[in-house]
Formats: sequence, structure tokens, C-alpha cells
Amino acid sequence: MLSKLDAAPLLEFILDRVNIGVFVLNRNMEVVLWNHFMETNSQRPSQDVVGKNLFELFPELPKQWLERKIQSVFVLKNFAFTSWEQRPYLFRFQHNRPVTGGVDSMRQNCTFLPVKSSSGDVEFVCVTLIDVTDTSIYQSMMQDALNKLNEASNRDGLTGIYNRRFLESELNKEFCRVKRYDGSLSFILLDLDHFKNINDEKGHLAGDEILRRTSEVLSSCIRESDSLGRYGGEEFAVICPQTKLKGAMILAERLRQSVENGNFSFHNERVPLTISVGVAELYPDTPTYERLIHEADTALYQSKEAGRNRVTAFERPA
Ligand code: GH3
Ligand code: MG
Ligand code: MG
Repeated sequence: MLSKLDAAPLLEFILDRVNIGVFVLNRNMEVVLWNHFMETNSQRPSQDVVGKNLFELFPELPKQWLERKIQSVFVLKNFAFTSWEQRPYLFRFQHNRPVTGGVDSMRQNCTFLPVKSSSGDVEFVCVTLIDVTDTSIYQSMMQDALNKLNEASNRDGLTGIYNRRFLESELNKEFCRVKRYDGSLSFILLDLDHFKNINDEKGHLAGDEILRRTSEVLSSCIRESDSLGRYGGEEFAVICPQTKLKGAMILAERLRQSVENGNFSFHNERVPLTISVGVAELYPDTPTYERLIHEADTALYQSKEAGRNRVTAFERPA
């Protein structure tokens, strides 16, 4: 077993070789210890730093915040911690990762440890600084991947517009918003006319191409606040927040005309296309968002029955 005296050089040796920043401050915020990691990264040798006030040495430090943090350790006699997620770094040090990491300087986790005298008072605060740049890079890469995955799970694979799952969850959100805060909401459902004929006569690939083009034509008609999605095989839907029936009918008619005049083609052969549309508005007594969909679907069915290529509003019973 080493005596305390024998251990001192060994501890100093370790302190200078660990890949962690360690420095110690007294109550006047003067540096009493500055290890090799701090020397290398700050490019300030220990003899230039020890005995001097930390904030005079490094005026760029967040003085108010750091002073309060360190004072709290002196007063409460407890250790404190900050993670890079709250404050990316204490000292703006360079890191040695490739620039592609997307992180401009070393990310740091810091601990503030009370160093007590034999009487139990806190004499010094020892600050440790751990380089967590790798963790932060991996975490932001994972977050990016999760965001992409989340975005993809809301999209329809063929057309790239929203899918039915997302549309229903958006419609439910809008439904709840109107119920709680008032306002208006309309829902448009549309279906391609005689689409089966296109598949039968020109093949499934032609059908797919027409579905993609239709989604582009429809997208170009709607406002940013509206949500367009593919509701089923050859059915599309538009959620129109803050829109009454009259406004939704105008949009629905615009959609209908745009498809009719859409100049669809496959392998340079023109493919005439029309849609039938149903429109429904949310009323105070509409019990669920599913009812709103059902009402738009009823109106759509009426458009089909009446000869297709037309827009019908859901008629509420008197
Ligand atoms: P209506 O005017 O009554 O709507 O007639 P329709 O022929 O459009 O209706 P129907 O429901 O009989 O046919 C819909 C067709 O849509 C049948 C199905 O093969 C086709 N369909 C659904 N999803 C896709 C798809 O992803 N790609 C292709 N190519 N066709 C699809
Ligand atoms: Mg159809
Ligand atoms: Mg259909």
C-alpha cells in the first residue's frame, strides 16, 4: 500500500494523462490546478494560468452562469453536473473529428466537485470536463435517421404524398382542435373515374404513372395549410383546416377542373382522366372525425351516381 506521500507523484502522473479536463478553483475563482488536457486544449500552460482569476484568463466564459454554478457547490457542499445537451460546451475547444460530423467544437459534459477541508468546509471546487463530441455526433445522426423514418412512415410509397394513417391522425387532431377552440374544418374525398379501365387497357404501370401525376396536379392546387394524401387505391383526400363548406367547394371544383384539363399521358399517348368529388364540413353536432369522412364519402358516392366528373356537398338532413 502506497503512503499518501508516495501516491502524490503517481496521482499527478495520472491527472496529466487522463483524457479528461481537470481544473480546480478557489473561492476567488482563481485557478489552483490545471491539468495537461486543459493545457493542450486551451493552449495555456499551467504556469500561465495557476494563481490567476479564471474569468480574466478566459473572458469568453459564461461568467454569470458559471459563477452561480460554482458558488452553489461552495454553499450546498454538493456536486453539480451539466451535460452537453443543456450547454454544448464550457470552453470552446477544437475537436479532432472530421468536419463531416456537423459539430463545430468539442462537446463537453462537466462535473463540479466540492473539495472539502478536514473541518468539512468546501475549500475548492474541482471541475472535470469530458469530451463527448462522438456521442453528440452519433446522437444527432440517430435523430436525423429517426426524423427521416418518421417522415417516411407518414408518406405513401407510390406518390410521396401523405398516407391514410397520417391523414386520419391529422384529421383527428383538427377535429379535436375545432371541438375545443371553435373554428371550421372541411374534408374533401375524391376518386378517379373509371380508373380500372386505364389499368385494363394500358397496364398497371400506366395506372401507377397516372396516380403519381394526379397527386402532382392535386398538390399544385392546394394551400400550404391544407393536407393532401392518398386515402386508398385511387382515392385522394384533402383536409382543409379553417375552411367552411363554401370555400371547400371552390377548392374541390378547382381540383376537378385541374384533373380534367391535366393532359395526362403514358408513353406519349393521351389518357383522359376525370375525378368525382365529395365535400363535407364539420358541424358542432358531428360526433367523430370518422363521421366527417363518412359524410364526404356519401357525397362522393352521389357524384358517381350522378354521372361522375362532378363535385357534391354532403347534404345535412333538415
Ligand atoms: P369508378 O368510376 O366507379 O370509381 O370506377 P373505377 O374503375 O375507378 O373503380 P374501381 O373501384 O372498380 O377500380 C379501382 C381500380 O383502382 C381498381 C384497382 O386495380 C386500381 N388501383 C388501386 N390501387 C392501385 C395502384 O396502386 N396502382 C394501380 N395501377 N391501380 C390501382
Ligand atoms: Mg374509381
Ligand atoms: Mg375507388
